[in-house]
Amino acid sequence: MSPVTVLEWIVALAIVYVGLPELLGHYLGVGAVRAVKTERQELALTFDDGPGPLTPQILDLLALAEAKATFFMVGRQAERYPDLVRQVQAGGHEVANHSETHAGLWWTGPVATLRQFEQAAAVLASNTHLRPHHLRPPWGQFNLSLWPAASRLEHRVVLWTVNAFDWRQKDTVQAIAGRIAQARPGAIVLLHDAGGDGRQRTVEALKLALPQLRSRGIGLVTVEQLIAHGIPTVPLRMRIWDLWESLYDRLYHVDAMSEDSIFRLQRGVLKDPIDLADGTQLKAGTVYGEIHLKNTALSQMGAIRGLRALRHSLTLLADRLAVEPRWQDIEVFLGTTILGRPAVGLGFTVSPVAEDLGGWWAKTYRNWLMLIYHPQGAHRAGSPEKMQLVFISMSRRVLLERYGHPGEGGGAGDDR
Ligand SMILES: [Zn+2]
Repeated sequence: MSPVTVLEWIVALAIVYVGLPELLGHYLGVGAVRAVKTERQELALTFDDGPGPLTPQILDLLALAEAKATFFMVGRQAERYPDLVRQVQAGGHEVANHSETHAGLWWTGPVATLRQFEQAAAVLASNTHLRPHHLRPPWGQFNLSLWPAASRLEHRVVLWTVNAFDWRQKDTVQAIAGRIAQARPGAIVLLHDAGGDGRQRTVEALKLALPQLRSRGIGLVTVEQLIAHGIPTVPLRMRIWDLWESLYDRLYHVDAMSEDSIFRLQRGVLKDPIDLADGTQLKAGTVYGEIHLKNTALSQMGAIRGLRALRHSLTLLADRLAVEPRWQDIEVFLGTTILGRPAVGLGFTVSPVAEDLGGWWAKTYRNWLMLIYHPQGAHRAGSPEKMQLVFISMSRRVLLERYGHPGEGGGAGDDR
């Protein structure tokens, strides 16, 4: 291998391991919390790099202001000041993970990255009897292995909305206090209670900023509370899937139905006959309506709300079927889903997906859905009995009987 190729390899590796993760994670906030959407008048102060000698002063100020905060602690500091870890927890604050030695992740390999947060989590847990739920990489630096490490430790990656720059020597106490006091609801504010000189300025800035926040009516809570009180956001992978669904709908003339329906409907004509599990055969040329789900909407509901929404959508479908001229020739509703069991309860006939139809595509599609909407269950995607992709069908007659409103003119379908 020539020296140039070695260099190229190093550059490529650096881009993949550090460059892209830094861009996505640090700058775009992918797989990280940088702020929380909330309707409450509250925000979260966070203190990094401690605990240290100034931590008690900060705890006193917070107690005086009836404020809670989150302390992203360095494992090594926690080993040095175990009493302070306990004192932070006793004050009702959140203890979070800021790595074992404050290692910059640009220079840390995959195994060491995991170990950094694993060790710190163990040290913190030994003092608080609670495993931390959040981590913040030192300097906000990302590498490719941070996300899997966080997921393995069941930590959320937390960055910040407002950098108070309390570490910057040239900044005055007033400037730092101003940044804290002007933070908006839902913000996560980055401060430091140890590491480096001049932390006394953080204390002085808090003395100015805490009363100002209070007079604005802003409550100070932990990151955990801020997220719990926040409006749940749709994860990026789901937003991408939504985009794909709407593109699909446009390309294949799928009707998105009304806002409160979680079905989308696509009219089609069968090319090949299909044998259903109940013995009926759908002949080639049968006009069908294929039901697609609005997966993101459904995934945001619990099981009970989801089932109610499915039932409601069937009612909406029956109503619309009675009046929609373009759907008058639809004889049967079809779909493929991994939700076989609820489908039976809703009146669908469930048939196994034919091998030739299923095969690679069906398996891939099912695995994608699992990965996007149920990542914890992704490893289960391989066990076919639990998450089998099935073929569901319901005739026009059954739909109108079960979900139609008699007297509103079940219409053309009734005698089919
Ligand atoms: Zn730090």
